[in-house]
Amino acid sequence: MKATLAPSSLISLPRHKVSSLRSPSLFLQSQRPSSALMTTTAASRGSVAMTAAATSSVEALQEGIAEFYNETSGLWEEIWGDHMHHGFYDPDSSVQLSDSGHREAQIRMIEESLRFAGVTEEKKIKRVVDVGCGIGGSSRYIASKFGAECIGITLSPVQAKRANDLATAQSLSHKVSFQVADALEQPFEDGIFDLVWSMESGEHMPDKAKFVKELVRVAAPGGRIIIVTWCHRNLSQGEEALQPWEQNLLDRICKTFYLPAWCSTSDYVDLLQSLSLQDIKCADWSENVAPFWPAVIRTALTWKGLVSLLRSGMKSIKGALTMPLMIEGYKKGVIKFGIITCQKPL
Ligand code: SAH
Repeated sequence: MKATLAPSSLISLPRHKVSSLRSPSLFLQSQRPSSALMTTTAASRGSVAMTAAATSSVEALQEGIAEFYNETSGLWEEIWGDHMHHGFYDPDSSVQLSDSGHREAQIRMIEESLRFAGVTEEKKIKRVVDVGCGIGGSSRYIASKFGAECIGITLSPVQAKRANDLATAQSLSHKVSFQVADALEQPFEDGIFDLVWSMESGEHMPDKAKFVKELVRVAAPGGRIIIVTWCHRNLSQGEEALQPWEQNLLDRICKTFYLPAWCSTSDYVDLLQSLSLQDIKCADWSENVAPFWPAVIRTALTWKGLVSLLRSGMKSIKGALTMPLMIEGYKKGVIKFGIITCQKPL
């Protein structure tokens, strides 16, 4: 693994506390009082206060997420580079891509997301928060593209350290920085980010309503919010829940990838509408990401992939064994790759 281990003092912090590795002071706010956490399911249908047991299950989930990324990020970087998200491909593209082709597809995912949300160079994006930043690939790309200041947050101390090291190595540390912080309790003042970016982190959030409220809180008036995330299919009229076999498939994925209950793209749209956000748009990009997991599996099955996988540990191995379920989920239409975007009113 390339990433070095973070000091144990960071790892042992309670998950609702933040530990700042390095951050421009303009973004920082003193520790926000921790408000009551809310239930995880049926985000759009209203939430109730959590019991102590549920709160501790959120803490256990977040510990699991941190440990998962502490263990697996080095392996991912070694094989796939610094973007820990799907690539964006032309639908039905039958071409077998090279490794660099897949990396380009991951950059294309960032570009397509910005384009879909109408974020262009003319928009004068000065400050960006990268919520669930991984090892900071999006932040560094966006900072370079717009000349913006970016701050990324992750639950994994290993990721935050590696992201900062890469920023320094790429002479970007005056523009981007990363810290361990919880997306549900962000250590930032209200209304300061022109772009609030969440690339494939929403699926980890145990309380979607609280997650969205935090994204909206930190967005500047007129700021753009972009959520690109794994969803389950929208429920049809009158349907109360997914079919048992569908739920069973998702539950198996949840266990190894440290995910709470899933929601649909429409659930996100409902949440954004309930908060009176503007220019709400969403799309289903499932077809555009279809080549991704087969490609990840192919790289895992190479000699280098197998050796790295075995060295990385059980969480990585279990993650690899779960990948075919992602393919099955997309093929059967249970899993949807969604983008949801909106603007905070001026
Ligand atoms: N956006 C990155 C990484 C995606 S992986 C990329 O595209 O490369 C998911 C990320 O979400 C991890 O960095 C994980 O630590 C982060 N994450 C999950 N739950 C989080 C939470 N509650 N607060 C902050 N980060 C979280």
